[in-house]
Amino acid sequence: MDVSNYTIATLGSHSALQILKGAKDEGFKTLCIAKKGSEKVYKSFGVADEIISVNQFSELFSLQDELVKRNTILIPHGSFIAYMKIDDFKDMKVMYFGNKDVLEWESARDLERQWLTEANIKIPRIFETPEEIDRPVIVKFYGAKGGMGYFLAKDTKDFYEKMTHHTNEKYVIQEYIIGVPAYFHYFYSLLTNELEIMSFDKRYESNVDSIGRISARDQFALKKIDPSYVVVGNIPITVRESLLPEIFDMGERVVEKSKELISKRGLFGPFCLEGVITPEADIYIFEISARIVAGTNLFAPYSPYTYIKYGEPMSTGRRIALEIKNAIKENMLSEIVC
Ligand code: ATP
Repeated sequence: MDVSNYTIATLGSHSALQILKGAKDEGFKTLCIAKKGSEKVYKSFGVADEIISVNQFSELFSLQDELVKRNTILIPHGSFIAYMKIDDFKDMKVMYFGNKDVLEWESARDLERQWLTEANIKIPRIFETPEEIDRPVIVKFYGAKGGMGYFLAKDTKDFYEKMTHHTNEKYVIQEYIIGVPAYFHYFYSLLTNELEIMSFDKRYESNVDSIGRISARDQFALKKIDPSYVVVGNIPITVRESLLPEIFDMGERVVEKSKELISKRGLFGPFCLEGVITPEADIYIFEISARIVAGTNLFAPYSPYTYIKYGEPMSTGRRIALEIKNAIKENMLSEIVC
């Protein structure tokens, strides 16, 4: 099956190396839209047949005619959502892998909460007002990139003290779940109706992941060290095998509910449930990402799970390309792009 008359393209950031490598391995032409100065990364790794340099990622919209001419399929990742408006995507005429209707549901905190709750997923309690705080909470700002500025508060007074550094920012007050963080990476195929577990990671965050290297005595001596959650990388994990049935079920419930709540096709392709596992083995999910997440970058060529399933290199990036290839083969491409 020759797919070389299709081009798989993405923005040069986040998980582009993995996406483009996977596309090349499946026989597609590849195109990277890179910010000036970062082209050398994509050149050096040899993953892009073509690189288009831009000053800003939003220039993607003015490149549409060029992309359509090349029979391009765009693969979204975290930088699409972080740097561009959802409405701009909706009008785009370039083929886009995934369901654009899902974007609104994952990016609006109240819709996301409705989706997870109706899918019977445990989520941390949300406090509508600071006065209701009766346990440790994490305060998250809207549109925060990589957990910048989030803080912990132990009660209402602590909340107001820490809020003095923030004015006019929208935020949510969430119960802080004591346990270990874990990010569950899935892939749901619309072609086979099968949900696959791809891999798991946890994040490497500055400075919360290194505060433990400083003794409590020294933390006091150094006065103000507040934890922050700025993501600088990812760490691979496997989970106890006895947790896998629940992890599968959670993913299936989220997919099923999306078909009911969002649109007929619902959520498909790669997605991630982001949560905390408590000592009682309860899994709380505080966020869903309805696309490839950067934690999957750890698993090119494969994760322990995709190796067991496929017996050959299968990253999430490659799995996306394989899905597109299978859809082309079965004349079903229009089902998985919009
Ligand atoms: P994203 O980039 O995925 O949109 P983010 O980086 O803005 O999200 P989160 O992933 O929501 O931030 O959270 C940042 C950090 O805080 C993570 O380490 C996460 O494990 C931890 N965290 C978030 N919510 C909770 C919670 N309710 N209880 C305990 N830990 C939490």
